[in-house]
Amino acid sequence: MNYKDKEFDEAFKLRGGICSLDHLEINSYRDYGKNHSDFLRPRYPDAPEVNYSLINSDFLNAAAAAYNGNYFIGVNLGTCALLSDLFLKILACPDTFPHIGNPSLESVEKKSISASLVNGFIYYDPLNGTSSTKPNDSFRARYAAELVHHALDFLIFHEYGHIFRGHLGYLSSLSDTNANFNFDLFHTGVSDSALNSRTLEMDADSFAANNSYLKFVSIRYFNGQIPDGLDFVYKDLNTYFGGWSFAVYSLFKLFNMTKFDELTAKRSNYPPPDVRSRMIFGNIASILNRDSVENGNEIVSTMVESVKLVDEAFGKITYAPANNVWFSNYEQVTPYIAEIIDNWVNLHDLLLPFSYGDLPPKQGFV
Ligand SMILES: [Zn+2]
Repeated sequence: MNYKDKEFDEAFKLRGGICSLDHLEINSYRDYGKNHSDFLRPRYPDAPEVNYSLINSDFLNAAAAAYNGNYFIGVNLGTCALLSDLFLKILACPDTFPHIGNPSLESVEKKSISASLVNGFIYYDPLNGTSSTKPNDSFRARYAAELVHHALDFLIFHEYGHIFRGHLGYLSSLSDTNANFNFDLFHTGVSDSALNSRTLEMDADSFAANNSYLKFVSIRYFNGQIPDGLDFVYKDLNTYFGGWSFAVYSLFKLFNMTKFDELTAKRSNYPPPDVRSRMIFGNIASILNRDSVENGNEIVSTMVESVKLVDEAFGKITYAPANNVWFSNYEQVTPYIAEIIDNWVNLHDLLLPFSYGDLPPKQGFV
């Protein structure tokens, strides 16, 4: 183990430490996450080095940490395994994404995601579910891998947001202890107040949404490489955000979705997953509006349509938390969202001394 890996292992020791497994698929996930630093660096020349790697844990989670003056981002191996299992099984169902590849090659047998729960925490469990199901059509398998990448883009950019937008610097300044953020929605106690914590999560989500958007722009218009055979994904913003929102909403749906309960939601450091995905889609609508994208409304409709497609797709792989929550909670959560967005005025000033680039404006958060 080199010194960087040793530092990483120490920073995430309590979560499982570094994943040192040398395996083709695992290596590809480790390498994939390293691209994000190269993508961000030109726009954040003053940001600190980030030591990125995989954490040896089966649980669905990722984290950003400040530890002994250095910065770390870790994605749990279980997150990659669960996302891969999820999207491969979704694409192995012939009536999901019927326009992709040759769905008639897929079997109609019932599929089941390889996941289990411990005390409300979901983890990858190859002994549960139909363990080896993947699409028979190789092109559908290829698209499943692209959905994994969309979800990982969101997750990794989100963690970079906690560092580059100064969240960890700000938290470290509140106390002398090492600070960290979890992605999973059940951990508590990262900030000085639950509302501030929810606002930081919104900001990290916005960093992820903005950079996913910029990734499309760079791939489509500036010499970026369109992954082999996936021209239809990168055709335009509508096709790109169609798949992206499917992947991101699926990631949140894995954390379970329930009927909105205001009291619990106000005590939580994270907006509930359905609320969070709605805020992210709203954020993208603001980005499209800011950049005067002509068919912005069409793109937002496509993203809302993805919510329905995910609910249907999850029903076919037996892991099916309550459906329609996204729509049935819709009216009730509007003031809850407004409170988080309004609190940005306060967080903006607190983060400013620690941020490594521009922050979203105080008014009109994007
Ligand atoms: Zn976070």
